[in-house]
Amino acid sequence: MPSKLRKVAVLGFRSVGKSSLSIQFVDNQFVDSYDPTIENTFSKVVKVRGQDYEIKIVDTAGQDEYSIMPSQYTMDVHGYVLVYSINSQKSFEVVRSIHDRLLDLTGEVNLPMVVVGNKTDLHREREITYEEGKRLADQWGALFLETSAKRNESVADVFSQLVVEMERADGNAPKD
Ligand code: GDP
Ligand code: MG
Repeated sequence: MPSKLRKVAVLGFRSVGKSSLSIQFVDNQFVDSYDPTIENTFSKVVKVRGQDYEIKIVDTAGQDEYSIMPSQYTMDVHGYVLVYSINSQKSFEVVRSIHDRLLDLTGEVNLPMVVVGNKTDLHREREITYEEGKRLADQWGALFLETSAKRNESVADVFSQLVVEMERADGNAPKD
């Protein structure tokens, strides 16, 4: 079977770990200082339930609640990764405004989406509980995961679970 191309946009406030998650997933390494202004596209082929997917990841330069996210971020995009950092209430609020904006831009309520609470290794600084993150994602019908890009915890799950969700949205419900 030929691989299917799936484009994924990684959105969130600055410094939450969007690039770190993307690079950890694609290159299996943690880069400590990655230029925060760079917007990059990464690509990786993964096999999910026997099917190869070429995932194109658009690692955006970041959003805040005042900057109007450009509509280009929704062009040909099949799925979204909305990242906050568990030690930043502010970044959690920014995820809400990005979600609102996505609904406005696409006019869809059932977008394939994973809400990600990153930096679980910084648990001493935690400001957002697991339950708060989960509740927000449930409210949106989105998937929810907590990750550590630094320790490579649950990073691959973000993308593989999103693939399953994108397939479902496509009308292909893969069997377990
Ligand atoms: P971006 O602006 O959202 O792309 O964030 P970056 O990936 O550039 O990360 C911002 C900062 O947070 C960098 O110093 C990263 O090393 C750090 N960082 C990213 N992910 C983690 C993580 O899981 N744990 C910790 N402790 N730091 C992280
Ligand atoms: Mg970045």
